[in-house]
Amino acid sequence: MTKKIQNPLLVVGTVAIDSVETPFGKRDECFGGSASYFSYSASFFTPVRLVAVVGNDFPKKYRAVLEERNINLDGLETNASGKTFRWKGRYNFDLNNAETLETHLNVLLDFSPEVGSNGKLDYLFLANFDPALQMKVLSQVARPRLKLVALDTMNFWIQNKLTELKAVIRHVDLVVLNDGEARELTGENNLIKAARKIRDMGPDIIVIKKGEHGVLLFFRDQFFALPAFPLESVFDPTGAGDTFAGGMMGYISRAKAITFETLKKAVAYGSIMASFTVEEFSLDRLRKLKSTEIEERIKEFRALTQF
Ligand code: AMP
Repeated sequence: MTKKIQNPLLVVGTVAIDSVETPFGKRDECFGGSASYFSYSASFFTPVRLVAVVGNDFPKKYRAVLEERNINLDGLETNASGKTFRWKGRYNFDLNNAETLETHLNVLLDFSPEVGSNGKLDYLFLANFDPALQMKVLSQVARPRLKLVALDTMNFWIQNKLTELKAVIRHVDLVVLNDGEARELTGENNLIKAARKIRDMGPDIIVIKKGEHGVLLFFRDQFFALPAFPLESVFDPTGAGDTFAGGMMGYISRAKAITFETLKKAVAYGSIMASFTVEEFSLDRLRKLKSTEIEERIKEFRALTQF
């Protein structure tokens, strides 16, 4: 019997082991993955459920990290005959762009995500992941009942699975991606034109992240821009995008509304969540984060962006 989902927000993506090098240090085999950062960040706003796969080498201590935020892990499958997805990346002094050194899909190659009974599911986030698997997930949920389906992707999938990616984009409400990915996906250098082209593919809401230069939000014919929260020390940008998306979707899920006003605030909360993640390696900073710190930084951010 399938269990009823009690978590209004579901994320499907990667739970990974990362090796990361930045100008400030190096960390091998640390905890990462698009669904990990997303769910950890979203859990500050709403109950969240994760669907992903790991291999026989996935450390218990990493699972415990997700458990400490009460993330529903019923959908975290272990494939005993394979290794966990691995990503190795490097950042040079331009911390806005990760250079992927290695991607090992491992257990992702045989993964068939199972969403289970829809239950209370209202919001779905297809985190950066194989677009063919994103489509499989989408085909399991009752589309007219879901309030919002959002999708993230990256250059790896734009380059390797463009047809599948375009097919899934057609069916989602919101696309979040960074500036380089938006340009690559559309072949358009100007981000406003790129957003328009993505909108023509299907989604109503486009969010383009520009790293330390902030974020652009397009909602139907409305437009909003926000700088990034200015930080003096950025240590490791890994996970910033997923943490941003977790904050944004978590906020929307908590607010239970999809209006331009809610989306603007959601983008601000996403930016603030990402600003914490980049202060330390892996999920280290998020693990120390208190809700009061989020609200304090939001207040500062509001003061900084008002004139
Ligand atoms: P970001 O938030 O964009 O910095 O994403 C960082 C996370 O994405 C890392 O923790 C990686 O494990 C994960 N990742 C890297 N490459 C891929 C990929 N091709 N598909 C899914 N997740 C990935």
